[in-house]
Amino acid sequence: MTNENEIKEQVALACRILARQVENFDFLGHISFREGDSMYIKGRHGSVGSMAHLQAKHIMRVSLLGKKEEEVEWDLPSETFMHTEIYKARKDVRSVVHTHQPFATAFACAGKRMVPIYHPILARQVFGDQGKPLPIHKTAELIYTVGQASALAKTLKDRDVCLIQGHGVVVVGRSVEDATLRAIALEEQARWNMLALSLGKALPIPVSVLKRARVATIKGRWNYVRSLLEMEEKK
Ligand SMILES: [Zn+2]
Repeated sequence: MTNENEIKEQVALACRILARQVENFDFLGHISFREGDSMYIKGRHGSVGSMAHLQAKHIMRVSLLGKKEEEVEWDLPSETFMHTEIYKARKDVRSVVHTHQPFATAFACAGKRMVPIYHPILARQVFGDQGKPLPIHKTAELIYTVGQASALAKTLKDRDVCLIQGHGVVVVGRSVEDATLRAIALEEQARWNMLALSLGKALPIPVSVLKRARVATIKGRWNYVRSLLEMEEKK
């Protein structure tokens, strides 16, 4: 992705897909993509409206210091630093997704451990091949300042998912598609954990099985979730 408009189209598409795939994302949360010392992120909800209707024009280039780099009418999201501080701390990360998706967030709210439980490839995409517990950032604060955001980046550390108690989740990836699909996979893992817990206990997929699972491929699932969205948008 090098063309600026293509990047903006992709971020907007990812926002529309995630608004369809997880609850509570249509008006809360954001997706960004890092390119060099800048990132691309949507305008604040109050100025751009529902994520379900987002277009490239609603996405703006912002410096990693959290300043707008182009003249646009949209305000910055109030949690912009959540993205900038993760990019500064993690050179491997190209995309950050922040949502308030309810099933995964509920585990942080309950202080309860979620385990890799369903489909080894998808479980590995969320928990990694060691199946380690997901880090929980133990504050119900919204992330408004550089200090709060750098503390969150420290809790995330080298993982791809961090739950935020009383608030939501942050998920990272090597591309917009990678981070978005991981956020969807996270919500699925949370749902399966709740189903299993409602029946008694949640049995984790063994580490040996996770290690043998292949790394999730992006293209096929991305095309699938995109096709679901396009079918709805044509109606
Ligand atoms: Zn938030």
